[in-house]
Amino acid sequence: MSSHDVDLFVIGAGSGGVRGARIAASLGARVAVAEERFLGGTCVNVGCIPKKLFSYGAHARDDIEDARAYGWDVAEPTLDWPRLIANKDREIARLNGVYQRLLEGRGVEVMLGRATLEDAHTVAVTAPDGTVTRRTAEHVLVATGGSPVRPSFPGAELAMVSDEVFYLPKRPDRLLVIGGGYIAVEMAGIFQGYGAQVTLAYRGALFLRGFDRDVRTHLDAEMRHRGVDLRFHTEVASLTRRPDGAIDAVLTTGETLVVDAVLAAIGRAPNAKGLGLEAAGVELDERGAVRVDGRFRTSARSIYAVGDVIDRVQLTPVALAEAMIVAHNLFGEAKRTPDYEFIPSAVFSTPPVGTVGLTGGRSPRRGPGPRRRGGHLPLHLHAIEAHAHRASGEDPDEAGGRARHRPRGGRARGRPRRRRDRAGLRGGAEARRYQGPARQDHRHPPDGRRGAGDHA
Ligand SMILES: Cc1cc2nc3c(=O)[nH]c(=O)nc-3n(C[C@H](O)[C@H](O)[C@H](O)COP(=O)(O)OP(=O)(O)OC[C@H]3O[C@@H](n4cnc5c(N)ncnc54)[C@H](O)[C@@H]3O)c2cc1C
Repeated sequence: MSSHDVDLFVIGAGSGGVRGARIAASLGARVAVAEERFLGGTCVNVGCIPKKLFSYGAHARDDIEDARAYGWDVAEPTLDWPRLIANKDREIARLNGVYQRLLEGRGVEVMLGRATLEDAHTVAVTAPDGTVTRRTAEHVLVATGGSPVRPSFPGAELAMVSDEVFYLPKRPDRLLVIGGGYIAVEMAGIFQGYGAQVTLAYRGALFLRGFDRDVRTHLDAEMRHRGVDLRFHTEVASLTRRPDGAIDAVLTTGETLVVDAVLAAIGRAPNAKGLGLEAAGVELDERGAVRVDGRFRTSARSIYAVGDVIDRVQLTPVALAEAMIVAHNLFGEAKRTPDYEFIPSAVFSTPPVGTVGLTGGRSPRRGPGPRRRGGHLPLHLHAIEAHAHRASGEDPDEAGGRARHRPRGGRARGRPRRRRDRAGLRGGAEARRYQGPARQDHRHPPDGRRGAGDHA
């Protein structure tokens, strides 16, 4: 046993920090964790969880439409936004308690306050009342996550970021979303689902860069069809508050939109400033993220970092996996390394998208098989009707799916999906897998007379 107070000190009790602390403690380490804001971190408090609750709620309106078509008499729905926020807050408070019990149940010391490194083995935690407590640690895990980037055009202070969107006292009737990443796309769909008039402005040619092009264009069409006003090659030049409380948003196209709220979802930056990392000898990379090696060790030998603060893949399951690797490598027997290939990801857009594997842009250059065969990786495309929604007269082409196969069939290398009726799509996709890998488009006629969806 080392002479330090603890074997592992974890800074940040978010996805990566809680997992790292819990696994290390379960392997017999003496662990302390500091959290300055909320147990569970971004995902639980202002990320995945509230976002999913909002998303389910936004889709409920469609389900009510479907219910009518299936014979239920349902009154015209009205929205009680404060009730949504209160119920969301209650669920998050429950999860905060779950995280606290998970840690304390493993004997982890939970310290509420802001932690800073004084040297490579000493952490000072400043509690909200100003009290400073120090712990020395054999190892330190930095899992401080990231924060939303705020824009810098004139009037940018009138825009909110994703941390604030979950606490809006009232649903805006007119919302401008700035950005083209998954958070911007999800929020546009959520607020449209809740009845707001939504405009999304993105400086690029098409949102969701990095996803398959056909998924992106399909979602583009579906979102427009549902009434979201998508403006690509468009930036916001300035925001000004009007006397009536609304906001004038001047776009780089010269147009002025009048909206009630603006959400800037233009990216997230690592929380690496003001932690004392320099004093402890921890190097940052050119993007301000903590630089780590293949096993998440920083340039200071006793300090490790995982999750959004290293800015590799900003997803909760990735932070969890990285933290488990660190805990097992430090206190377990197996020596583990990360594998970032085939990370499944979902976009809670409307309709939703799910992907795993290589994207259309990457796959032809990857893997010896396709290259040996002339650099051509056969694509297998199919669009599947969401049969569940036909009774309400919903556009049958809402759903879609696509699987990329090895040249002689076999395991799919990538499989993006998008639809509300996921189980139906899975049936269709499995059926198609046995048809061979020829490059073909299985888009079936819009009347839905045949197609994989019929197998669902
Ligand atoms: C709107 C939104 C939606 C998202 N949806 C998804 C999704 O659907 N699926 C998904 O996989 N990912 C999603 N993410 C991303 C996901 O939330 C992050 O990738 C994940 O939370 C990263 O985990 P982490 O442990 O690195 O950091 P975090 O979870 O952010 O935890 C870091 C913690 O460290 C604390 N901290 C920071 N500095 C200090 C300090 N000096 N002292 C003490 N404590 C400190 C912070 O308060 C925070 O609690 C979403 C993110 C956002 C913003």
